Amino acid sequence: MIPRHATSGPVLPTVPRWPSWRRLAALGCLALLLTALGVAPGGASPVVRAGQLAWVGRLTAARVVAQWPRPGWERLDAGRVRVVYRTGHRQGAEWVRDYALESLPRVARMTGLPIPAQPVVFVVHASPEELARTFGWDPRDPPLGLYAAGVIHVADPRTWASNRDTFARLGPVPHELAHWLLDWNTLGNYPAWFTEGLAQAVDRAVTGFTFGWAGTCPRVAWSDLNGAFASLPTDQAYGAALCLYDRLTERGGGGALPRLAEALAAGEPFAVAAARIYGVDPARLLPGGSGR
Ligand SMILES: [Zn+2]
Repeated sequence: MIPRHATSGPVLPTVPRWPSWRRLAALGCLALLLTALGVAPGGASPVVRAGQLAWVGRLTAARVVAQWPRPGWERLDAGRVRVVYRTGHRQGAEWVRDYALESLPRVARMTGLPIPAQPVVFVVHASPEELARTFGWDPRDPPLGLYAAGVIHVADPRTWASNRDTFARLGPVPHELAHWLLDWNTLGNYPAWFTEGLAQAVDRAVTGFTFGWAGTCPRVAWSDLNGAFASLPTDQAYGAALCLYDRLTERGGGGALPRLAEALAAGEPFAVAAARIYGVDPARLLPGGSGR
């Protein structure tokens, strides 16, 4: 997630439809637990495994809450995409659904990460300000989208984009889908900088969108990048994340990410798995690292 940029249309009648999502949620939870508890390879860390089990619990709870039928919210289902939206925001929800259906296979192809059997859940909030308030942030500097615990939250695109093209070009959908795919395929086992590097790289490839810091490689200590990512200045943190992600991808090639995800899902610590698969200690690729 990154705060980025900052019009309601006719409302079509809807009939709330709540198919057997409880059963699907339960099956999803079971599948995740079985995967997490499966036979771990020699490189699996008990600490990572414990974190992955906690991740399964958090993710399952958040997804159930997001989809729980409640007054003032409705739902759209289409293939692997599920959109829960504020009543009155049907058209924005359709924009999100359509662009997510179009983007998901592209993001999966580009990253090499498999699309989970569980649908990706979007929550469409009434506006960027409402989205910010939901997460306790300053509504004067709202995000357009964010990924949290298995759910992608976005603001109704019709409140900030004049048309679908603008929404596709500037919107958060491919970026947040990249976060979702990585999270599901690793059972939550990766550092924040890595998912932000990946999501920016996906955004750049799908929409051409880049931030001002793209192409820079700010100097950041490896310990700060991993231990204090959220408290670093945004341009330093996200610039270093993209730079390091790109340098790793240069070393490993296109097929490295799915192999890395497989090792991470099996409980291997990130730094160990990355060093093995990319053939280099990631810390050495940082500006000022001993390898560059
Ligand atoms: Zn992000």
